[in-house]
Amino acid sequence: MRLSPAVQTLKPSATIAAAAKAKQLKQSGVKVYDFTLGEPDFNTPEHIQQAAIEAMRAGHTHYTPSGGILELKQAIGRAYERDYGLKVAPNQIVVSNGAKHCIHNVLTALCGPGDEVIIPTPYWVSYSALVELTGAVPVLIETTAESGFCLTAAQLEAAITPRTRLLMLNSPSNPTGSVYPPARLEELAQVCVARGLMILSDEIYEKLLYGDAEFRCVATFSPEIAARTIIVSGVSKAYAMTGWRIGWSIAPVELTQAIDNLQSQETSNPCSVSQYAAIAALDGPQQCVSDMLAEFTRRREYVVQRFRDLPDLGFVEPTGAFYMFFDASRHFDRPLQGGRRVSNASDFCTALLEEAHVALVTGDAFGAPGYARLSFASAMPQLEAGIDRLAAFLKG
Ligand code: PMP
Ligand code: GLU
Repeated sequence: MRLSPAVQTLKPSATIAAAAKAKQLKQSGVKVYDFTLGEPDFNTPEHIQQAAIEAMRAGHTHYTPSGGILELKQAIGRAYERDYGLKVAPNQIVVSNGAKHCIHNVLTALCGPGDEVIIPTPYWVSYSALVELTGAVPVLIETTAESGFCLTAAQLEAAITPRTRLLMLNSPSNPTGSVYPPARLEELAQVCVARGLMILSDEIYEKLLYGDAEFRCVATFSPEIAARTIIVSGVSKAYAMTGWRIGWSIAPVELTQAIDNLQSQETSNPCSVSQYAAIAALDGPQQCVSDMLAEFTRRREYVVQRFRDLPDLGFVEPTGAFYMFFDASRHFDRPLQGGRRVSNASDFCTALLEEAHVALVTGDAFGAPGYARLSFASAMPQLEAGIDRLAAFLKG
């Protein structure tokens, strides 16, 4: 089969592939401790489900405007005004099939062959693949545990060339769980304004913060920064709605129009019923978000505590999202459980799955060799047993 150049080298999403591998093992009857996918294990809150049922009964089962219904755009506007004091007009918003789809739309509308897109590593697995699909080149800049996995303005300045089009940011971050201090974020945004770059700020984990971590929506710094910023977010993580597939982009009007045109040709509207559910999520009581965050906080504390006692793992305590991202490299070339020896993170994760039935995602997928990611969006008993097994695996 002759495939198009765009897909010839395209790999499947490593997170989804790791989850599929764990599932396959489960289906063969093995009890697997699966910490691969970053998706809340909670059911979507009842009042949101109810709104979807009512929407179906009311006949909202038809096509909607391609970029989403006005009522949802207005609800998104109300949420940004309420939460961040940011005024967002409906003509700045496109609602799409999840935040991942929004990122694809934004990149397709902005980038093409000859362009460069700056992505700090570690980065979420799909960023580089989605940039490459447009024909643009991802320019990866390494951040380290020492800098709390945050890009500096000097690093950004040094990476800019006449071809640079866009900076991709993700705070709170998947996979590192780091949250940029607002002052650092503003500094980066100012470099983008001064050098004429756009900023794609993926804020999907905005509600999932621990301790005194502070989230700052990038578009709130100044009108000049807002004019260069595209916010991407959605209901997947905060409201346990991954399967409903609702995300949004907030961008300058001209770009929003282009994204809407693209979506109208590509997928038409996002699911009508899910749009009504998203209105209930944004407009309804926010207690469900705090309740889920309280449980994530408990799990995060447990996981951090346990990891402190595991031998020779390096990690920065996550202050956002729901991932423990750790450096496993000191265990390479040492005997692990079952006498296994590994020399990289992918083999470490494979051996861990085969020997201990614990499923993680390799850091290689996130541009961070030597690392592995554990999602703590799993119930406590799972985490307890899974980390016990990880400990036994490391012990050899
Ligand atoms: N951005 C990041 C950083 C993510 O971790 C995810 C994971 N789902 C997404 C975007 C995509 O979210 P959605 O499920 O809404 O497409
Ligand atoms: N974002 C989640 C993750 O990183 C879900 C899987 C995906 O969309 O790639 O695990």
